[in-house]
Amino acid sequence: MITKGKFLLLDCAEFRSWLSKQKITRVINKLQVHHTASPNYTTRKMLKGIATQDHFACLEGMRDYHINTNGWSATGQNITVFEDGKIAISLDRDLNKVPAGMAGANTGMLCVEIIGNFDKGVDKITVAQKQAVIHLYACLVERLKIPIDTDHIVYHAWYTSKGVRLNDYTQGKSSKSCPGTNFWGDGNTIASAKKSFLPMIKDELECLGKEELKMKKEDTNAIIDKYLKPAWGAAKTAADKQEIGRLADELRVASGQKKQNG
Ligand SMILES: [Zn+2]
Repeated sequence: MITKGKFLLLDCAEFRSWLSKQKITRVINKLQVHHTASPNYTTRKMLKGIATQDHFACLEGMRDYHINTNGWSATGQNITVFEDGKIAISLDRDLNKVPAGMAGANTGMLCVEIIGNFDKGVDKITVAQKQAVIHLYACLVERLKIPIDTDHIVYHAWYTSKGVRLNDYTQGKSSKSCPGTNFWGDGNTIASAKKSFLPMIKDELECLGKEELKMKKEDTNAIIDKYLKPAWGAAKTAADKQEIGRLADELRVASGQKKQNG
């Protein structure tokens, strides 16, 4: 975790615990999905899959553009995800500040920018960035209690330049192609979001839930195998056997496993 200037740079694995410590003081019920278009993998000076440009130089470059060219008060996005999976928080646009992500539609939203240009024929998202993006959205929906659907996790391409929601990405009506016509390898339509992006967030959220279980699966199964099974074998009545089976199932459920005794 490094702070420099107006940015905090986190390893992907640090994000969930960092987020759990933040005080959220505004209503956030939608998460925007953007690609930066520029900066991208070319301006990041990728060499054998690794960017040679400093993370903070990239972040400061965006901040400078947003303030001095766009005339905004601060960096537009709340969060940025890098090609190596690192996650940056804009300290001048912390989570409690409404972002400048989509004109006319920012209230109640959080803006996440994914570094790269994911239009067809340009950057192909790295595995590390994919994993970080999925983890990030899963952590956000978990913390902010946001449903995983196309009404709440929204692509920039589904809005007009005035912030009016469209039924889908519509060339000529959509403000931009953002997060890219080949985003996630699927595209930027509603159907493409439903195809693998949203299901992957759901899967990751489920994994996060399992991490929180207090009992480890290995310990649980050791207790069942070493103690409960012999006790079951020695039990004299059907009622005793049934009770031991019930207790074993309680342990299984507590460690995220399925019941075996009905
Ligand atoms: Zn965008």
